[in-house]
Amino acid sequence: MRLRNITGSREAIAASDYVVHEERACRGKWSGIFGNRHPIHIEIGMGKGKFIYAMARLHPEINYIGIEKYSSVLLRAVQKMEEEELPNLKFIRMDAEEITEVFAPGEVNRIYLNFSDPWPKDRHAKRRLPSRQFLTRYDEILEVQGQLEFKTDNRELFDFAVEELAPAGWKARVITYDLHGDRALMEGNVMTEYEEKFSAIGNPIYKYIIYREK
Ligand code: SAM
Repeated sequence: MRLRNITGSREAIAASDYVVHEERACRGKWSGIFGNRHPIHIEIGMGKGKFIYAMARLHPEINYIGIEKYSSVLLRAVQKMEEEELPNLKFIRMDAEEITEVFAPGEVNRIYLNFSDPWPKDRHAKRRLPSRQFLTRYDEILEVQGQLEFKTDNRELFDFAVEELAPAGWKARVITYDLHGDRALMEGNVMTEYEEKFSAIGNPIYKYIIYREK
């Protein structure tokens, strides 16, 4: 994602009611924040929030939390909420490395990773959101029956992500190298901003859905 320093974005995020600011204090209490016991689905690295906003509008019976590292990007999602507020959607500005500080064990029911940054240098592999280091964190916060869904058009990142599964104790329920060519998997598929952009220029979209056997 190209980052421009949007003047005042940090202040706008700090002042927004749609962003949870004391996220660590919410650990184990997210149902209370939403005021219901609906399942909690999170997107890590949500960018401008196109996907999670559409999902929240489509599924009012699910609580969604979008996580994004940069205020300048998150600001776009906040602006969408200002136009039309969705009660089942909240945002957090944070680095996902600290995710276990923000969610209690088993508190999350589903995790989405969409078009995660590739970090192409080997020495940065542990920063990739589908790396084994992150899978260990997700293992902690995801309920036993929970699943993680990952989409990307980056073949190297996808191959890496698939190789990380076994060492981290995860299994694939679905792996496709052509999501958009699979009618069954496309049912209910909500396109992310990057998915729209890259599928429009003919890139195949890769996807897996993974779980742990516990
Ligand atoms: N998911 C969106 C989509 O598919 O259109 C955005 C994809 S963009 C390439 C990746 C986003 O993940 C960026 O906005 C980046 O700031 C965010 N990101 C990367 N690493 C992150 C981390 N460790 N914690 C939180 N957000 C992160």
